[in-house]
Amino acid sequence: MRMFQVCVCGEPLKLNEQPTPKPTGTEVLLKMVAAGVCHSDLHLSDGYFDLGGGKLMSLQDRGMKLPVTLGHENVGDVVAAGPEAQGVKIGARVMAHPWIGCGTCAVCRRDEENLCRAMKSLGVFSNGGYADHIVVPHPRYLIDIGDLSPERVAPLACSGVTTYGALKKVASTLASEPTVIIGAGGLGLMCIALHKAMGGHSAIVVDIDPAKREAAKQAGAAAVIDGRAADAAKQIIALTNGGAWAVIDLVGSSATARLGIDCLIKGGKYVIVGLYGGDITLSLPPVPMRAITIQGSYVGSLPETRELIDLVRRTGLPPVPVATRPLDDVNAVLNDLRAGKVIGRVVLTPA
Ligand SMILES: [Zn+2]
Ligand SMILES: [Zn+2]
Repeated sequence: MRMFQVCVCGEPLKLNEQPTPKPTGTEVLLKMVAAGVCHSDLHLSDGYFDLGGGKLMSLQDRGMKLPVTLGHENVGDVVAAGPEAQGVKIGARVMAHPWIGCGTCAVCRRDEENLCRAMKSLGVFSNGGYADHIVVPHPRYLIDIGDLSPERVAPLACSGVTTYGALKKVASTLASEPTVIIGAGGLGLMCIALHKAMGGHSAIVVDIDPAKREAAKQAGAAAVIDGRAADAAKQIIALTNGGAWAVIDLVGSSATARLGIDCLIKGGKYVIVGLYGGDITLSLPPVPMRAITIQGSYVGSLPETRELIDLVRRTGLPPVPVATRPLDDVNAVLNDLRAGKVIGRVVLTPA
């Protein structure tokens, strides 16, 4: 099989070949059909996250072992299964939930594998889908997608469940108040679509790029704001009648965190999802006095992925622009993404 791997952090992915593995135990082998390219693949290929103040968090220190095949938004066809993989249909077209935990700790046992401290996520800590085949450790992570479009379903595995998980954290005001969404890249457009599908009141979308603001408008944003405007927080406060109850920050930079927290109303909630990186200094008395919540949200759980697939079966696939490119273009696609040239999502299809 052919696979595109991080071999040395900071270098382009390298094409490696190895014999296609035979699944053992509960493993399932998929022949790849579609693999979404996610912004976090840039961090994974760089090998670090920016903690701000000149500090970096190394992914190899966090358990990423090289070489590793990237690609965590995967749809494929089941072609083989180990002797203990029960309930698997050869030929089924499935999405692979990538946020896999150790399976045995208390967190995993209560179905929050995405918070496990020993994650084995596909395309991060184990080989992912920038390849012609992928091994999934257990059939429980596979969701039959039937005749749904594989290119449109693939991004649900990360972009979809990540924004769905964040939107669930502001569920108490979702239907009654505007939700502020910072960032209108692939995640942002997915978030706008799912916000609507979940019965959201209205979305106010912030981005520094006019092309992305335009894409957000097309996607149904009630208002768009230039995040670089000196009065951006004031504009949000005016549009939300005194401040936002819910801000979802899909960028996660020093500037967006400052903006997101500054525009909250008393009792409001700021949910940080994006991993752009940076830091902020926060005055503490206003946190209790304004009774604000600052919450992190990391991808989503297997039950959330299943809920999300049920949601899109009821309401339709999110109309996020998707462009398909051949798998062999993966490094060019990553460069486009790094340069901010991608609107919506790029999905790789093996030859
Ligand atoms: Zn991702
Ligand atoms: Zn665990």
